Amino acid sequence: MPKPLEDLIRADIAANGPMSIARYMALCLSHPQYGYYTTRDPLGSEGDFTTAPEISPLFGEMIGSWLVHAWEAMGAPQNVTLLECGPGRGTLMADILRVAKLRPGFLTAMRLTLSEASPVLIEQQKQLLKEFSPTYIETVADIEDAPLLFIMNEFFDALPIRQYAKAGPNWHERVIGLGPDGLTFGFVPAAYKGEGEFAEVSDATAAIWSVICDKISRHGGAGLVIDYGDLDRASGNTLQAVRNHQKVDPLAEPGEADLTAYVDFALLHSIASENGLAAPVTTQGAFLQALGIGLRAEQVIKARPDLAPATWDAVKRLTAPAQMGDLFKVLGVWQDKALTLPGFPS
Ligand code: SAH
Repeated sequence: MPKPLEDLIRADIAANGPMSIARYMALCLSHPQYGYYTTRDPLGSEGDFTTAPEISPLFGEMIGSWLVHAWEAMGAPQNVTLLECGPGRGTLMADILRVAKLRPGFLTAMRLTLSEASPVLIEQQKQLLKEFSPTYIETVADIEDAPLLFIMNEFFDALPIRQYAKAGPNWHERVIGLGPDGLTFGFVPAAYKGEGEFAEVSDATAAIWSVICDKISRHGGAGLVIDYGDLDRASGNTLQAVRNHQKVDPLAEPGEADLTAYVDFALLHSIASENGLAAPVTTQGAFLQALGIGLRAEQVIKARPDLAPATWDAVKRLTAPAQMGDLFKVLGVWQDKALTLPGFPS
């Protein structure tokens, strides 16, 4: 098997020295020709991993009702951006907008705006969401100056991170070099300073999130970030590669496996707070239960008793602590701190 991306990475390291994990992730995930997301639809049972909206439409319905509720609580602004970053197959947004149709005013007021790195997925999104004529933006800086509603599910985990480790008094960056058997991890001295013994830092996450929080603080809005991660940055090395629903060596097949890291919810929370926004965090399980996913499941089953086993199985996958319920966190942000929005403990 030819491995053009691995050859390219090896040549880069041979010429320029060890490569940061951030650059390695960016090349593996988004290289214009050979990147993981550039070249495929990774989702679903035939793909490499399955996300919440691909498990059940109930997930998107809960998010949709939250967003419509937030819009009404904001005074139903007549010109609002509805943004999703990394919409995957478009499934989540299709489920959201099916719920939103119950409030025709919402559909008239919103302009659907998507940010997506994968040409393959853009085609699928355009097909599924064509009645809503989505606009694509290259960067979040292109978001309109208007009230903003947004959702990001498993978006930030795909953004590049750097890793730092402390040895004695000194910090080192974990990098990728060439060993006798191929790509290998190593350490180089780094100017980094931080707490603890090990750190993961995503500059891309901080940059994108700062822009979104700034837009909301200036123009109003609300939104949800849903992803795996933690609040205390205690998880250590969370870089992982997944292929065919199995964990694999992150260096083994550059561009052929999904690479992710835990999302730093403490960072997202603190940037939102610095922008004066409400920024509560809860678990996905608690959030979906509070929004009534159980009641909605009962409604579905009343109409379609044959769907009962699959529906309860999906609810369990999304909410049970041992499945997605605890590992996945939900960060809600909104401009008006006096406002309470559903799903978060008050
Ligand atoms: N939100 C979807 C898909 C999650 S997978 C779901 O829940 O099913 C990650 C998504 O982010 C994919 O759509 C991927 O192509 C996209 N993505 C990854 N890096 C990106 C970047 N830098 N900019 C925009 N989209 C990106």
